[in-house]
Amino acid sequence: MTPEGQALLRQGAAELGLTVEDQLPQFEQLLDLLVEANSRVNLTALKTESDIVLKHFVDSLSCLRGGHLDGAGLRVLDIGTGAGFPTLPLAIMRPGVAFTPLDSIRKKIDFVRSAAEALNLTGVTPLVGRAETLGRDPEHRERYDRVVCRAVAALPILVELGLPLLKPGGLLVAQKGPIGEEELHAGRRAAGEVGGKVTEVDAFTLPVLGDARTLVVIEKVGPTPKKYPRREGVPNQQPLF
Ligand code: SAM
Repeated sequence: MTPEGQALLRQGAAELGLTVEDQLPQFEQLLDLLVEANSRVNLTALKTESDIVLKHFVDSLSCLRGGHLDGAGLRVLDIGTGAGFPTLPLAIMRPGVAFTPLDSIRKKIDFVRSAAEALNLTGVTPLVGRAETLGRDPEHRERYDRVVCRAVAALPILVELGLPLLKPGGLLVAQKGPIGEEELHAGRRAAGEVGGKVTEVDAFTLPVLGDARTLVVIEKVGPTPKKYPRREGVPNQQPLF
């Protein structure tokens, strides 16, 4: 990573209240691995160092706002992790948390697995599959303390995919761009349908770039009816609200 890239990472992290000094070598290695892998397989549209540092690394770290992912031993599922975001930056910063990055695309999870191994992120257990399938599998249903997701789907869809996987009292932490009243309203109604309640809507701007972001936190306050999640693809094709 160039000195400019390091400075952006330091500044972005500092604006989030984080110090990345000890973790810089891991972020540098992750950047190298991502750039190298992306030259062979199409993993992410972001190609420049500053884009990767700000829009993947710092953006992922913004999921730490509010402290919902702090706590040794937490089990966190990342739905639709793609090339490992937000999981990989979060796992670098929170080595005591157990992350399960999930994606339906095998080549993406192959990269996440090899990167996690190279970075010695022993708490990361990547999984190929769909959230709808996991949500009906007793090995995964109601087994996670937190579900995170970044840039995956509209809120009512995320709620149907995420809530079945949470333990009672668990939290869905959805990182999104600016969120309109309509989506938020639909998300609240969907949450009510699957045993969740919106407890926090944290609107903020991304460090350095100033892009609008929202962290929506939904708590599992009651059981999720057995009929949810519906079968693969249905939550996207026919959102609850
Ligand atoms: N979270 C990553 C990021 O922020 O860079 C990737 C975002 S990408 C736009 C969305 C990813 O979600 C894709 O890789 C897609 O395969 C995955 N995805 C979408 N729906 C999914 C589902 N129901 N189960 C598992 N993965 C899903």
